[in-house]
Amino acid sequence: MRADQRDTRVLRAARDVLAKYKFTRTDQGDEVRFDVTGGAQPYVVSISRTWAHPPSCTCPDSDRPEVKGYCKHAIAMLTLDPEWSCQLLEVYL
Ligand SMILES: [Zn+2]
Repeated sequence: MRADQRDTRVLRAARDVLAKYKFTRTDQGDEVRFDVTGGAQPYVVSISRTWAHPPSCTCPDSDRPEVKGYCKHAIAMLTLDPEWSCQLLEVYL
């Protein structure tokens, strides 16, 4: 699959996460955690406010080499706050 095809698919999926799922935010120092529910399984997304590391998610997609933490759940949560939405650039690099 070409990279741009994957991008379009994952961005559509992230839009669905924002529109249909529920997410609960917990702040703990540099880390922000979101409990994401409403999909097949509940998942936990962790974001570094200071971009110290890529986001992570407990879903099976997150660890795939072409995903590197930027699964649909992480992308959706990264859009929620301008403080860290710049990290979305990584999706295109
Ligand atoms: Zn995920």
